[in-house]
Amino acid sequence: MIPYGRQNISDGDIQTVIEVLRSDFLTQGPQVPAFEKALADYCGVSHGVAVNSATSALHIACLALGLSPGDRLWTSPITFVASANCGLFCGATVDFVDIDPHSYNMCPKALEAKLIKAQHENTLPKVVIPVHHTGQACDMQAIAALAKKYGFRIIEDASHAVGGRYRNHAIGSCEFSDITVFSFHPVKIITSAEGGMALTNDQTLAHRMVELRSHGITRDRTRLTRDEGPWYYEQHNLGFNFRMTEIQAALGHSQLSRLNSFIERRHLIAHRYDSLLADMPLDTPSRLPYNVSAFHLYVILLHDASKRRKVFEGLQAKGICVNVHYIPVHRQPYYEHMGFHAGQFPAAENYYRRAISLPMYPDLADEQQDRVVSELKTVLDL
Ligand SMILES: *Cc1c(COP(=O)(O)O)cnc(C)c1O
Repeated sequence: MIPYGRQNISDGDIQTVIEVLRSDFLTQGPQVPAFEKALADYCGVSHGVAVNSATSALHIACLALGLSPGDRLWTSPITFVASANCGLFCGATVDFVDIDPHSYNMCPKALEAKLIKAQHENTLPKVVIPVHHTGQACDMQAIAALAKKYGFRIIEDASHAVGGRYRNHAIGSCEFSDITVFSFHPVKIITSAEGGMALTNDQTLAHRMVELRSHGITRDRTRLTRDEGPWYYEQHNLGFNFRMTEIQAALGHSQLSRLNSFIERRHLIAHRYDSLLADMPLDTPSRLPYNVSAFHLYVILLHDASKRRKVFEGLQAKGICVNVHYIPVHRQPYYEHMGFHAGQFPAAENYYRRAISLPMYPDLADEQQDRVVSELKTVLDL
């Protein structure tokens, strides 16, 4: 079987995890802050707050920005449901901005048109979550300019994009956003089994997220309202247990040392697909000039949408476990119950009808990749 994505675990990763298991701390020890610092340094950002998933990171990022009932959150329809659900967790209203058909990311022109309308209707969003779909950054400069003009805050959902770059900044630098979120699920670029991180240059936001990931509690002497003794801590917010374990942090940190080599390998695979698939009746991924994609996914768009199911099932039957990223979130029954319906975001819906994610992960061998392409040719009758 060839999966669409798969983790790469080295002997060094395994050794690191074993050492943690033999150490004093399985949680709340030195590994989590060490991983946070290492990834924040890699990204050129001041603070990293590690949590148990990107979903949790998105949730506490929204809360830290004050997203509340009555507020609005906008994101892309072409994303995993978590990018939208985080708004609902906070009691906010969620809406979507259609994608650009070239990059498959949130379209800044569609965003601007929606903002102009929302300004007239007094329904501007408090938070916008651009998603760096497949690992390629959104047009953050344009989105950040709109944030300034219309007064919203930005959380980058960079779950696909750790190791990628945008305009000479590492993704995660928060040069064009308030907070950036990464995922370390095993199919993503680096893994901690489950895990995520929120990065920010804003110390106040970082403090809030640190409290929210651990019950809303602080032990920081400088933040306590009184001092009853060395045992004393205070709850300041209604937080959660979203902590990352020491085992996860050690694995993530160990993986981080191979991040650049993972990205290089993903680029080689992508270039190989580009040439193997040239002249076939499908679109291969665009490369935007100011971007270095992390290439989490390699998505092809079939010219003939009516063949998508046949291609998917044909490859699956040959043990090639392709996938589709994503079913537009507004077409999920849960969202349709809120009033969303087909036809609202035509570029996203057109993308979805034609999209297939081909296998893409560092250990994908050239022969396996050749097999994927030849089976694809067969099923397309080429
Ligand atoms: C994977 C993913 C998430 C959720 O990540 P978890 O770590 O599994 O919670 C959120 N957004 C996007 C775009 C993702 O791909």
